[in-house]
Amino acid sequence: MDKNVGLFWLKDDFRLTKNNGLIEATQNHDQVVVFYLYKKDTYKNQEAQKWWLNRSLLNFRNTLNNLNITLELIETNSFKIFFDKLLKKKDFSLYWNKIYEPDYLKFDKYLLKNLKNKNIQHKRFKGNVLNEIDEIKKNDGTPFKVFTPFWRTAEKYYIEKIPSKEKTIKKCKKKINYFKNCIEPEKILPKNDWFNNFDKIWFPEELSALKELQNFIKERITNYSEGRNFPSIVGTSKLSPFIKFGQLHVETIWNECIKNKTENIGTSKFLAEIGWREFNHSLINHFPHMLKNNYSKKFDKFPWEKNSKFFNAWKKGMTGYPIVDAGMRELYSTGWMHNRVRMIVGSFLVKHLLIDWKDGEKYFRKCLLDYSPASNVAGWQWVAGCGADAAPYFRIFNPILQGEKFDKEGEYVKKWVPELKNLSKKFIHKPWEFNDQKFKIGRDYPYPIVKHEQARVKALNAFKKI
Ligand SMILES: Cc1cc2nc3c(=O)[nH]c(=O)nc-3n(C[C@H](O)[C@H](O)[C@H](O)COP(=O)(O)OP(=O)(O)OC[C@H]3O[C@@H](n4cnc5c(N)ncnc54)[C@H](O)[C@@H]3O)c2cc1C
Repeated sequence: MDKNVGLFWLKDDFRLTKNNGLIEATQNHDQVVVFYLYKKDTYKNQEAQKWWLNRSLLNFRNTLNNLNITLELIETNSFKIFFDKLLKKKDFSLYWNKIYEPDYLKFDKYLLKNLKNKNIQHKRFKGNVLNEIDEIKKNDGTPFKVFTPFWRTAEKYYIEKIPSKEKTIKKCKKKINYFKNCIEPEKILPKNDWFNNFDKIWFPEELSALKELQNFIKERITNYSEGRNFPSIVGTSKLSPFIKFGQLHVETIWNECIKNKTENIGTSKFLAEIGWREFNHSLINHFPHMLKNNYSKKFDKFPWEKNSKFFNAWKKGMTGYPIVDAGMRELYSTGWMHNRVRMIVGSFLVKHLLIDWKDGEKYFRKCLLDYSPASNVAGWQWVAGCGADAAPYFRIFNPILQGEKFDKEGEYVKKWVPELKNLSKKFIHKPWEFNDQKFKIGRDYPYPIVKHEQARVKALNAFKKI
């Protein structure tokens, strides 16, 4: 056994299973300390995720406690300052798992170099992906820009890979504290009581994630291809925040799906969605400019409009288009929104209101519990038409038809927009055509802030400019 303390740098890895860095630390050391570096500046734009992080830290701390491992929380605005100080010591070995974002990987290089120079024992491990980013490339060595060939290659590569020998976590001999000036998770919470509702819906811990996965495989995966389109039913897994924070490793998802012999079209479709996540990570690392700008440069000249009245109506779920408003209210209330509705509200913002996708991306970042830089920017750029393998800009979702197709009975709308609960199926997606003594458009629910046909023509004209 190594006499040094084993330090594990915890990031989005709130799990014991397939947490290679943590497992290795417990295999090599009698004393292990897990530390989380909280960057306040980063989280100031991720309000909802403060709640998930807070609960993850509290729950994981309890789990680790039983293994005689301390979880210490440190606030810092700079990884460099923190590690430069830490590296002055010699009594530890460092372990961590990769995060597949350009800033993290760049910092890894700095850290690896300095650890080596100072002769400090360390090891970095694969993070929460099926394949490493550089493993999946086209025959000519360049990165894929289209999803289907990417996933065909990535899936085959993963299936043929020889799995590494699985190790398990070990209980440590003695619990110790290592860092000074630690903070408590209570310091990390959203500003207002917004999050009270989240506690009724989500349980941010590994066991709960595994249970949700099992339920999904048992009850819903067979019908996933069809069920995933309808926001009024629970047809998807709702695992996204667990995956984002690493309560669940995607290899575990893969193994459980295959193990349960649910090899059918639903399983393949579901695993392909995990594939989209891999694809997005590959994109942001090979084309990092897309994290802040348009992937497709021709969109740099797009004539976006600034309209705070429209933007606020969209955020509040008061656009007058029921399916859009339902989605925005679901997001604010639960920290999650159905994928179909994410596409509808996104399309409405960038095409009907001509508001820059970056504004929508920022608002999602604030409200989503599953916010991930890769999937959020890629999702928004897919919707806006400026991403890799994106929906063409001229394909403009009609929010009335989308509602009538995917929320036929209006159940989803009625759940989130209760002002419309007495409207019949005929009017639920076009309430402006309905009027009676109890319901008056303009009084009980807003008129549409833009007319669909006019907005569509305007958007197509704007598109012609680029
Ligand atoms: C505008 C926009 C923004 C988005 N922002 C995010 C985001 O910040 N974080 C995020 O995880 N997803 C994002 N998505 C993708 C998708 O909407 C969510 O992953 C999905 O709705 C999560 O619900 P689920 O877990 O029930 O998904 P399921 O349908 O059960 O899928 C299983 C898992 O596959 C992954 N996945 C599914 N669909 C996609 C997709 N289209 N792209 C990438 N990964 C996918 C997720 O990890 C998901 O948990 C965005 C999509 C759009 C259109």
